[in-house]
Amino acid sequence: MRIIENVAEMQQQAGVWCRQGKHIALVPTMGYLHEGHLALMKFVRTRADLVVASIFVNPTQFGPNEDLDKYPRDMERDVKLATGAGVDVLFIPHPEDMYPENYQTYVEVTRVTGPLCGRSRPTHFRGVTTVVNKLFNIVTPDTAIFGEKDYQQLATIRRMAKDLHMKVHIIGHPIVREPDGLAMSSRNVYLNPEQRQKALRLSRSLNEAEKLAQTGERGTEVILQRVREIIDEDKEPGGVSIDYAELRHPETLEEAPHLDGPTLLALAVFIGATRLIDNRVLNVAAHG
Ligand code: AMP
Repeated sequence: MRIIENVAEMQQQAGVWCRQGKHIALVPTMGYLHEGHLALMKFVRTRADLVVASIFVNPTQFGPNEDLDKYPRDMERDVKLATGAGVDVLFIPHPEDMYPENYQTYVEVTRVTGPLCGRSRPTHFRGVTTVVNKLFNIVTPDTAIFGEKDYQQLATIRRMAKDLHMKVHIIGHPIVREPDGLAMSSRNVYLNPEQRQKALRLSRSLNEAEKLAQTGERGTEVILQRVREIIDEDKEPGGVSIDYAELRHPETLEEAPHLDGPTLLALAVFIGATRLIDNRVLNVAAHG
């Protein structure tokens, strides 16, 4: 596996592959790799000639009081894991190369970024779409893969690719979970053992909501009430608190007044200072 840290070098190498007619797949990440990231890499490995994984903790998608500086990093381990997943090139650009002095261009997707994480993290998606655009221009992938764990991110990137006539094919990959149900995330490392236990409430509440939907419940309030009961916010500071628990249309992310066709149940929950997200599409048939 080759490591490229320089934008111009990556762009030059991608140009060579393009002229050779190679199919390039891109897996954008912020590193501190886990089985979720590796599943994305292995998935595209079977569908592309060249797999490029990027590791870039993108400063523009972090808010002023978020965890940019303490975001977990372990490059040595990431290199081993990416090699094992069959990655051809690990692209690790430097922030000064991505955002040089006098940088002033951003890509913004509007409506789909408004609710959910967009409400609690107002500049987040602008940072995501900007960096993903830059990565697409540098790596020129035919295919790019994103996890459904970051559901709104995937919906936003699909929207951007469509709206801007991008030729890249966007693939969504199902959420990879720990054996006990916790969605894998680089941020799980922030949880102490007690918090790690409490974090299971997210996946448990999604399971319960799915059961309710499967047994015919169509009322959003009933389902959300059950979800809130399971997550059961702690009253003391530093405990568990819900940022949002909402039912929305799986593509537009508009509010779902009741379950009529597949509906996204999206959660963001603070476990102490750690904000975890999870989601499930409740597969309900639409009324005739
Ligand atoms: P991140 O490093 O957190 O920015 O994630 C990089 C990519 O991996 C994104 O497309 C995420 O949605 C995806 N990803 C992260 N965790 C998971 C997971 N547990 N299951 C599936 N995809 C994931």
